[in-house]
Amino acid sequence: MATLEIKNLHVRINDPENKDTREILKGVDLVIKTGETHAIMGPNGTGKSTLSETIMGNPRYEITQGDILIDGQSLLELPVDERARAGLFLAMQYPVEIKGITNMEFMRAAINARRDDDDQMSVRDFLKELDRNLDILNMSESMARRYLNEGFSGGEKKRNEILQLMMIKPKFAILDEIDSGLDIDALQVVAKGVNAMASPDFGTLMITHYQRLLNYIKPDFVHVMMDGRIVKTGDAKLALKLEDEGYAGLRDELGIEA
Ligand code: ADP
Ligand code: MG
Ligand code: MG
Repeated sequence: MATLEIKNLHVRINDPENKDTREILKGVDLVIKTGETHAIMGPNGTGKSTLSETIMGNPRYEITQGDILIDGQSLLELPVDERARAGLFLAMQYPVEIKGITNMEFMRAAINARRDDDDQMSVRDFLKELDRNLDILNMSESMARRYLNEGFSGGEKKRNEILQLMMIKPKFAILDEIDSGLDIDALQVVAKGVNAMASPDFGTLMITHYQRLLNYIKPDFVHVMMDGRIVKTGDAKLALKLEDEGYAGLRDELGIEA
């Protein structure tokens, strides 16, 4: 079992262009163990993507206090690629396009970068695994042969993030609005992929604006984030309650000003 721990995390945005150094995260605490599925919900602009980018090590986000640890080891000094080697995976809200590298090349490189030199994945094992996962996600092999995300529709990009997840098999995955812009069929396919990952050696943090995703991927814990803090934690029922009463209802209940 592995543990990802976020401790009293304070983050401000370090944007040299507009000199904006606003504090975005104001003390986030969160513990995720492998085998668990967590969801963070919250209104737009509350810092959900900031949290995921910061965990992954995006240098634009400056940590002013707190820590991020896997099994008690701080990740703060590690660049993105070493965090990936430590077992983290981030499916971004807006996946990037990369010309000149195919999806397959990207995935194989990503897998092998996470492995030791004497344990590299062979082309044959890679293709076998790719086939299996393309099947689960109803994706054609031509998608894997195309340049990474280039010309992919919004839905194809999301599906492709899940393909990468299934190929890379990290310890912890952060899925940032993997449901946004998906129709119900695509959402079901994406959920099928995430659910196929379920194992005692895999933990998920799903970030979503909507309860809908949680009908398909059942969370053990639901956290609500508002204004840079986790203001409430519960089980799957909390998401249903939010759907009913909205974020405004929760604000009233907790006495938080809008
Ligand atoms: P969420 O994902 O919950 O919608 P974000 O983490 O994307 O929220 O954004 C939180 C706040 O930080 C917003 O006010 C947003 O405009 C701001 N922000 C996020 N990233 C950047 C950035 N790179 N530069 C400037 N402002 C940013
Ligand atoms: Mg947003
Ligand atoms: Mg976001």
